[in-house]
Amino acid sequence: MAQHFLLSSAAKTLSLAQVFQMKDDEAEMAFRRVRWPETNGEPVCPHCGGTDAYDCRRLKGAPRFRCRACVKDFTITSGTLFANHKLPLRGYLAAIAVFCNEVKGKSALALRSDLGLSYKSAFVLLHKLREAMAEEMKGRVVGGEGKTAEVDGGYFGGYVKPANLKEKRVDRRFARNQNGKRKVVVIIRERGGNSVPAVLHSESQASAFIRARIAKGTVVHADEAGSWDNLHERFEVKRINHQEAYSLDGACTNWAEEYFSRLRRAEVGIHHHIAGAYLLRYAQESSWREDNRRTSNGDQVNRVAALAMKRGKSVDFSCGVCAIIPQNSASRRGQSMLAQYC
Ligand SMILES: [Zn+2]
Repeated sequence: MAQHFLLSSAAKTLSLAQVFQMKDDEAEMAFRRVRWPETNGEPVCPHCGGTDAYDCRRLKGAPRFRCRACVKDFTITSGTLFANHKLPLRGYLAAIAVFCNEVKGKSALALRSDLGLSYKSAFVLLHKLREAMAEEMKGRVVGGEGKTAEVDGGYFGGYVKPANLKEKRVDRRFARNQNGKRKVVVIIRERGGNSVPAVLHSESQASAFIRARIAKGTVVHADEAGSWDNLHERFEVKRINHQEAYSLDGACTNWAEEYFSRLRRAEVGIHHHIAGAYLLRYAQESSWREDNRRTSNGDQVNRVAALAMKRGKSVDFSCGVCAIIPQNSASRRGQSMLAQYC
């Protein structure tokens, strides 16, 4: 029997030990290469695009460059997701390696212990990595002529704890006994291809998202839920009734179910509670992990680092208008800055 990819040596090309054995200048060079791949790590000024910059380190040796053309200073992480960073660069590389080596996700408490960070730093750092992963899904359209995509939804959040005494417990299936925080993650997954998640209040709101993200000519597979009925207007749709079978006459949504298997295990086994404003980020993380499950861990680390360097400043943890990362406020308390700050 063929060996499973994850058990093969091709799956592990980078170990945490290798990251920690790196010297400061090696970690710096590794980040320079992912930030400026077109010049093989030679600095490019983010202000004017000039390539003539010289090393102008801070007093304590932290890397910094000064552009000869516009005489402005910049660092390796200026204008990226890791702008204004406090940790040494090797710490970020280690955090990405730890994050990628996990299968379902990494809890902020565990990362805190692994790297000696505060819980808030670990929480914000992990969310920035999720934001980097989401960069790949921006505007992604899956499927096409001759291709197959699967659609399904799964509900997360809004848990109502049952009362201690049996006579005080309520039937939590009724809307009046719910708290309105339960949301649905809708996944579109191309068979043998990529996936895109969205977070909505109900499956019936998903038709605009599905129309925008599945290319015309794609054969769409969905389950028997009535909320997918309007897909027939635009796509050739195959339905599977899960009360009869999981796969019948070529119709199944098992690729989508695999995605939910990973996300549900991340919820139950790693994070315990994923809901509210952060649910989309967790959904995107699981989607990225699912799409890259057959990629070696070294390549995964490179890709996440490159995405973090490519993405501008964090939108979740800095103000959407003035792009200021607030010190001593919500982002430091580990709360999202989805609200404007300026
Ligand atoms: Zn410049």
